Amino acid sequence: MVDQVAFLPCGSAESLEHYEQTVQQPVLLSEIKGLLPAAMFDHLGALFPGGQAAMWGVRSGARGENETRWGNLREGSIALFAGGWKVFASGVVAAKFRSKKVADHLWGANDDGQPWQFMFALAEIREHDLPTETLKAAIGDKPGQPVLGFRVLDESRSRVCLDEFGLRSERDVWPPGPADIDAAIRALDKLEADYLARRRLEQDALRSFLLGGRGVGRCKICEREYGAGFLVAAHIKMRAKCTNTEKRDFRNIAMLACKFGCDELYERGYIGYSPTGDLLVSRTLRDANASAYVAGIPRRIVLSAEQARYFDWHRANTFKG
Ligand SMILES: [Zn+2]
Repeated sequence: MVDQVAFLPCGSAESLEHYEQTVQQPVLLSEIKGLLPAAMFDHLGALFPGGQAAMWGVRSGARGENETRWGNLREGSIALFAGGWKVFASGVVAAKFRSKKVADHLWGANDDGQPWQFMFALAEIREHDLPTETLKAAIGDKPGQPVLGFRVLDESRSRVCLDEFGLRSERDVWPPGPADIDAAIRALDKLEADYLARRRLEQDALRSFLLGGRGVGRCKICEREYGAGFLVAAHIKMRAKCTNTEKRDFRNIAMLACKFGCDELYERGYIGYSPTGDLLVSRTLRDANASAYVAGIPRRIVLSAEQARYFDWHRANTFKG
């Protein structure tokens, strides 16, 4: 998580015009294709699948001071637009790039020869109505001075801003809470289009929930510990047969299962569990190596009453007996 806040002065007629042109009205990525190196263009495309992104740019400044500050700006920082003694909007710095071509295209060439080339793309644009004086008081700045220059706050001041004024990115919340999972599942149900991408979203959210934000977890079936990449959130009851309410019962409907065999054996019904959590092995499992694998996993697992319901469904419908 990045704890960094940047002030973007945006009170002059010129900067307000820029704000309207490229933040309020996001830039169509197709419009700047060809002005950026392909790798950066693709990166933006991946970050903004909707094909448009809010953009901002700063000039180097008389002694290059803004360039240095821009250099310190990190992806994930929260940028605050300040003008008229207010912070009126914020965005998350999603990508940074230097491009005179894009700057000139978006805002026109600048008379003084200083393009707004130190650029960044912003996600999660939110509107605010925060007096800059309140913010400055919180970070120990002298009162009575307007926000004059582009400025990147140090970590402790940034943290004060983020916490006291609720400016953190929504994506920073870690581990994902029930609301995130609920949102991911709702998003899944909303549209059948883009099915796989959404399925992945649900899978990632569920798995992160089961992992509790840690990078490692324990397979429910073999009880071995693995890195997150070797574990999946396996639906105890086949997902396709779950009602919407069951899909959203994320505390009970899924378990962590390893990709080294447990997920596969369970999903295909070669193993199942009795109501008391005793391992059941299908008679149809003839494969010698698979049988040897199953012989090495615990005979019993602990299941809650809520999970037992889903294991019952699996035993009756998926388990090969
Ligand atoms: Zn396992």
